[in-house]
Amino acid sequence: MGSALLAKLRDAGVRAGREPAHVLLSTPAEVMVADGTDTAPLSRADRELVARYPQDVARGLKLAMQATGARRAVLALAPEAREASGALAREISADGFLKFHVTDLKIASHYPAGGATHLAALATERPVPSGGTPEDVGAHVLSVRTLLAIAEADRGQPQTHQLVSIMGEVNRPVTVWVPYGLPLMRLVAAAGGIRGAAARPLARSRAATADGSTAGTAADFVYLEGGPLGGQAASPDAPLRPDTNLVVVLRADSRAAATHLTPLEVHTRRALSTCENCEQCTAVCPRFLAGWRIEPHRIVRALARALPDEVLVSAALCSGCGVCTVACPAGLAPDILTLAVREQLARAGFEPRIEPARPRSYAADRRLPRERLLLRLDLARYDVAAPLAGTLAADRVVVPLELPWGGKASPVVRDGHRVKAGQPIAQSPAGDLALPVHAPMAGSVRLSPLGVEISA
Ligand code: SF4
Ligand code: SF4
Repeated sequence: MGSALLAKLRDAGVRAGREPAHVLLSTPAEVMVADGTDTAPLSRADRELVARYPQDVARGLKLAMQATGARRAVLALAPEAREASGALAREISADGFLKFHVTDLKIASHYPAGGATHLAALATERPVPSGGTPEDVGAHVLSVRTLLAIAEADRGQPQTHQLVSIMGEVNRPVTVWVPYGLPLMRLVAAAGGIRGAAARPLARSRAATADGSTAGTAADFVYLEGGPLGGQAASPDAPLRPDTNLVVVLRADSRAAATHLTPLEVHTRRALSTCENCEQCTAVCPRFLAGWRIEPHRIVRALARALPDEVLVSAALCSGCGVCTVACPAGLAPDILTLAVREQLARAGFEPRIEPARPRSYAADRRLPRERLLLRLDLARYDVAAPLAGTLAADRVVVPLELPWGGKASPVVRDGHRVKAGQPIAQSPAGDLALPVHAPMAGSVRLSPLGVEISA
């Protein structure tokens, strides 16, 4: 049963965060955590998915537990998803296999609510070692999206779409199934377009040139793929990345957007001249509070002064949650500086040391309430419902081939080929991490530097 499921997951191209699902589930676990925390601020995809597909999520959970031998399931759902969680609990209790093994984690409304290592520590009541993974404490953490994908793969359905919430300065916030590789502007159109965009055209500068015309040197709005914290600014015509479940449109001059639009050199210069060394960024860092060896205030200082290398390499432990930046009284962006160092370390092939962690006793008091976070970032007005509204149609997609675990998949189709929806179009390198990428629509193929383009 286990190996048959793993083969189906591989053939369907199912991913579990930063690795293929068949690789993760080939490791035994005691506890299986279903992550439906909607951890990114403004995200709605998890709760919409659990409400609409409780049967499939329960089935995916059961299959994952059978494959790994896990004896206990833990549900980690956002408090706002309590109604949806009732439907999931009913599905689970209707199934004798899971009946006696389910714990509801009752996640509080804090940011970040989720995060695999945080949920694993809560579910097992064991600290995850610094630099470690949930597997170090006998847990697997799977998002509810992955659980749904597992149930679909078991039915022979390949992965071709992702569930995305479109929030912020749009007319009708919405959650939709999106074919891989659809341009972001098509998602925003599905949300009724940008509010007031007719009066303030997108990507048009308001700065007048000498002849009185306007020049395209600055955008009025910014698309944040992945959300205001932990996400990144992307061009409206960029294809959606396969691991994205949230797109937030903000005014370019808003605080949350400006942080993403400021060049790294400017962030660095500001930090070197104005960091007060107050340590407030470290005081709220979830990884520091979990007892991991990371202190963002020291990383910021290390960029200015010659602190030991071990300070800079601690950046490899950063999750990219962005709480440090929300907490900084000087308006600096320690998360962006830390992530820049983390990226350099990853490119150099650096792997953090695994060391025992001693969680701070005061950790629970330092967690940032989600509502306060939204107020500080001036995002509270966008914290609205985004009901699931079906699947977007596509006449052209460009399926990106970058893999979350590094490297790129290689196309297995050529220019001019006609493909059917669901047909493999690329394959990641051979070995354990080999995984196909499937066509989200039928059409003819053109290979581009951005990926595999398919046009109807
Ligand atoms: S919170 Fe800001 S000012 Fe304080 S130490 Fe961190 S980066 Fe420096
Ligand atoms: S982004 Fe900041 S708060 Fe979050 S883990 Fe990294 S250093 Fe810590």
